[in-house]
This record gives sequence, structure tokens and C-alpha cells, in this order.
Amino acid sequence: MPENLRAFVAALPKVELHVHLVGSASMRTVTRLARRHPDAGVPADPAVLRRFYTFRDFDHFLTVYWAVQALLRSAADIHELVVGLARDLAAQNCRYAEVTVTPYNHLLDGLPGDDLLAGLASGRAAAAAEHGVELAWCFDIPGEKGPVAGRETLVFALRNRPEGLVSLGLGGPEVGVGRAQFAPFFTAAREAGLHSVPHAGETSGPATVWSAVHDLGAERIGHGTSSAADPRLLAHLAEHRIALEVCPTSNVRTRQVESLAAHPIRRLLDHGVPVTLNTDDPPMFGATLNGEYLAVAETLGLRRAEVAQLARNAVHASFAEDTRKQALLAQLGGVA
Ligand SMILES: [Zn+2]
Repeated sequence: MPENLRAFVAALPKVELHVHLVGSASMRTVTRLARRHPDAGVPADPAVLRRFYTFRDFDHFLTVYWAVQALLRSAADIHELVVGLARDLAAQNCRYAEVTVTPYNHLLDGLPGDDLLAGLASGRAAAAAEHGVELAWCFDIPGEKGPVAGRETLVFALRNRPEGLVSLGLGGPEVGVGRAQFAPFFTAAREAGLHSVPHAGETSGPATVWSAVHDLGAERIGHGTSSAADPRLLAHLAEHRIALEVCPTSNVRTRQVESLAAHPIRRLLDHGVPVTLNTDDPPMFGATLNGEYLAVAETLGLRRAEVAQLARNAVHASFAEDTRKQALLAQLGGVA
């Protein structure tokens, strides 16, 4: 077993279940895309880009996010982004990831659906061949754009059904965007064999998580941190093994929690909720998957067996094939 905690975390084979494709763009990837599309006004000079990329506040994060989104204009751009993500995941010893893609936003921005699909497919193949990382897709609905976005996302997902597509998600603001209005799309997706993975309880209270569970049949919850305020909900999540995709650094950056020490993750674990650790929008929040594990382990004073259990939770909560899960668990067993 590696001597120190940092080496132990790095050696753990990991799974990432909550990372947004656009939000995963590293400076290296953005530099290449900015040079390809100079008219977009995104700085291509590394020093200037680093300043642009440094997290200031949530509004600035959104500025960066939409600037990157505007650089994605062809299948080759999507390919570049996907392979860049796979490279970064491999560097974190992450072997399998479910990546959130928001087709509706790309279509609105004028990227043809076929180009998006071609870039995802070729990027996914290269991720496996060049970096040994298996990627799966979650197509998510930008909730603030309403039921029309739900319908379009569902139709796009089911009509094309790309290889690796495992789930339907729901993102964007929670306050004023009730989960229940998206119920018909989640029902149809589940009937078609896709899993239900909405964001809930990140920026609003436990009632949103209940709605995600009851109205959308959520099998995992994006964030779900506000569940900690409702003991009955905690018991429900634990009993039904509904995992939470917890993104600690993201929660601190967006000021949903004051600090990592104030994060309810300990309470979630103490109630037996399956907790997984994830990065959300890693370079934009200055997060890495190893960094999340390390920070949580140090803040909570976790034993190594508990750290390894977090990695196991992610394998169990993933929608990977059974053989893949067994292989990942065996690899984990070799380290921890
Ligand atoms: Zn998210």
C-alpha cells in the first residue's frame, strides 16, 4: 500500500459520474480551439487565458463556460474536447466516466446534430484507444429552457441513441424550475432503457430531491447535498441505494457551502447514503478528481478503507456493464 495519502488516492482506480463536457475543457484544449476560431474572442495566449480561466465568482464562471461553448462549431472541435477530457481523466487514474452532454444547447448554437454525434463517437473511440478511458454519455436537459428543451433532448437521444448513451439528465437552475414538468420525458427515457440522473438539491432544498425521486424516477442525484436537511429523505436514499454525485469543490465555489469543513458529506455518509465524489466542471473550478478525494479524506479524517469505499461507491452507482464493474472492483481490490 502506498505510504502517504496522496499516493494512495492517486493509485486508486477511479470512476467519475458527474462531469460536464463543456465544463471539462482544459486550458490546453481551449488554447487549441481559440487558435482555430480567433473570431470567438477567447484568448489563445496561455498567460492571458490562465487569467481568464482563474475562478473569480459564479458569474465569471458562466462567462468562461459560454465562451468555451461558443468555440464548439464542428465535429473536430467536439472530438478535441472529448479527447482532452479523456487525457485529463487518465492523469487522475480515472478509468470510466459518465459525461454530461447538453445537445439542446449545441443545436441552439448552430452545431448540426450529426456533427455533435460524430465528434462524440470519434472522441469516445480515441479516449479508449489512446488513453484507456471508457466514456459513457448522459444527455441532459437545460431546465431553464423549459419543456421544449426536454422534448428536443429526448427526441435527439432516442432518435440517435449513440453508443455509450446511458442516461437522461436535467441541469440548470433549480429555483423556479420545478422538476415535475419534465416527468413525461423521464418516463419515456426510462421506458426506452435510459437511466434517470437529474440534478437536484444543489441550489434548492430537499423538496427538489423528493420531486426528482418521485416525479423523475431518479436512480442517482446530481449533487443532492441539501438532502442532509431531511432525515426521512436520507433514510429513503440509503434504503433505495440512490447515490449522490457530490462535487465538493464545486459546492464551495458556487457558495452552496461555506467551506469543505461545513459540507454535509459527513452527515450523508453517517446516514448510509451512497456518496460518490466528482468534479462537475474541473478546470473552471480548479478541481481534480484526486484533489476531491484527498480534500475530503483530510477534512473528514477518513481512514484509507473509507476512502476506497468512496471509489467503490462510484463503481456500484455507475451504469457500466457488469463485467466492467467487476474489473474495476478487482483493480480497486489490488490497491486498497
Ligand atoms: Zn452539474
